[in-house]
Amino acid sequence: MSDTIFGKIIRREIPADIVYEDDLCLAFNDISPQAPTHILVIPKKNIPRLSDSHSEDHAILGHLLCMVRQIAANAGLSNGYRVVINNGQDGGQTVDHLHLHILGGRAMAWPPG
Ligand code: AMP
Repeated sequence: MSDTIFGKIIRREIPADIVYEDDLCLAFNDISPQAPTHILVIPKKNIPRLSDSHSEDHAILGHLLCMVRQIAANAGLSNGYRVVINNGQDGGQTVDHLHLHILGGRAMAWPPG
């Protein structure tokens, strides 16, 4: 289990505004939202970065994307949304536990900074 802040959220050692949970993943509102809707989806398995995942993780990686679709629909993001995975230092990752950002509720700019 990861010793990051997200590991603590999975173990309920610190609170989070949880919007979805199943055996494999957890989703909660980002504490510093960058859009009207900003949800993080994380695996319960300790995968620090996408680049640390292995081919044996294909099922959990697929599950995370399927849950993104469902969670975004539940959040009412019918006009679209952005899914972001920051990977490593140059990717802007600040928490070393794999997470998918769902950003919605406004039009997104491109390219990202
Ligand atoms: P990243 O920069 O991709 O690693 O994203 C980490 C995200 O975690 C940021 O958007 C933070 O605002 C968010 N975050 C950090 N701590 C918490 C927390 N305790 N609860 C919810 N979101 C958090």
